[in-house]
Amino acid sequence: MAGMVEPRWHDVARATGLLAPDGTVAATIFAEMTALAGRTGAANLGQGFPDVDGPDFLKEAAVAAIRDEPNQYAPGSGVPALRRAVAAHQQRHYGLQADPDTEVLVTVGATEGIAASIMAFAGPGDEVLTLEPFYDSYAAIIALTGATHRTVPMRPAAGGFRIDPDDVAAAFTDRTRVLLVNSPHNPTGTVLSREELTALAEQATANDVVVVTDEVYEHLTYGAEHIPIATLPGMAERTLTISSAGKTLSFTGWKVGWVHGPAELVTGVRTVKQFLTYVASGPFQHAVAKGLDDDGRTASYVSGLRDSLWQRRDFLVGALEEAGFAPLAPQGTYFVAADAAGLGHDDAATLCRELPELAGVVGVPISAFCTPGGAVAESLRSWVRFTFVKSPEVLERAVEGLQRLRT
Ligand SMILES: *Cc1c(COP(=O)(O)O)cnc(C)c1O
Repeated sequence: MAGMVEPRWHDVARATGLLAPDGTVAATIFAEMTALAGRTGAANLGQGFPDVDGPDFLKEAAVAAIRDEPNQYAPGSGVPALRRAVAAHQQRHYGLQADPDTEVLVTVGATEGIAASIMAFAGPGDEVLTLEPFYDSYAAIIALTGATHRTVPMRPAAGGFRIDPDDVAAAFTDRTRVLLVNSPHNPTGTVLSREELTALAEQATANDVVVVTDEVYEHLTYGAEHIPIATLPGMAERTLTISSAGKTLSFTGWKVGWVHGPAELVTGVRTVKQFLTYVASGPFQHAVAKGLDDDGRTASYVSGLRDSLWQRRDFLVGALEEAGFAPLAPQGTYFVAADAAGLGHDDAATLCRELPELAGVVGVPISAFCTPGGAVAESLRSWVRFTFVKSPEVLERAVEGLQRLRT
């Protein structure tokens, strides 16, 4: 390997904190913590996926689609029924207009939609702006494009992690090409307020950037209103709104996502996407189309899921407080961020390796969602992310374990 030009994937490994000085690549903290949970039998509140599947009628719809529909490549933009269902969903929930033929693109989960959007609009010399902490795929994909990743810090306050308009204004430069927003926000559970979104939108307009918004938790909010940034004045024409069936319908394994935006922008994303995967998940696309159609069953499934997650949130937040953590009750998502400083732990990464032993619980340090070694990682060094999208039995077990921390 000596003398070899450094391969591009090193940038991805470095941006995600996985590249060791000797060139070896570490497992992600999620893999490490999940393995630890497996070895110790601890309740895994590290990895955020549901341990109960979505509704049976949608499983049946997927089986029926395999049986009755062609099992060949779906149309590159996605099956028409799903594109129509996405357009109807955007109209019904948010009053956003979408032409299913030119303004909706089906992707391999939200992840591919985000990747193709960043690749379509950013490259070497450009800057992509995200909130920090951020969902882990963002830094990786920005690094892959060769663009520079800049961030707006989120700071813990009484009402949750918030952003400051002055930080927003300071983060934009004349090289900013894409603003990547995420609300409801993973890992903090923040639902951005209209004021915060307005601060982002004003700068996006003033600097003429494309806005990409990851709204996969759009329906999983607890008393806060989810406002798509595309609904703000002047924003629809510069915004690519991304969501998926994974979180809303509890089918993360189906990997059916979508992008909605003006035809010119969607054309750019489609141009990239068609050469990444072309198209995937044909039969699941048909099932998700049924799921998005407002036939009452889906609406009642989603509102039941939201209410149940809300209760699970309250249960876990209460237990974390009793155990001596300082959690900030999330307004949305599967996750709660909790400060361990009051427990005498100022390094959450170390604490997370000890928690299975101490409390029979696995969490993930918030620093795993930050630029490695950066100022935000340092400021949130004592914070842990826990998920509550687990069965009541798993949560009970976790909460019993957490009580041991007190004694
Ligand atoms: C889970 C998640 C995704 C991935 O969505 P897929 O549809 O599974 O690709 C994207 N963004 C955030 C914030 C997530 O939590």
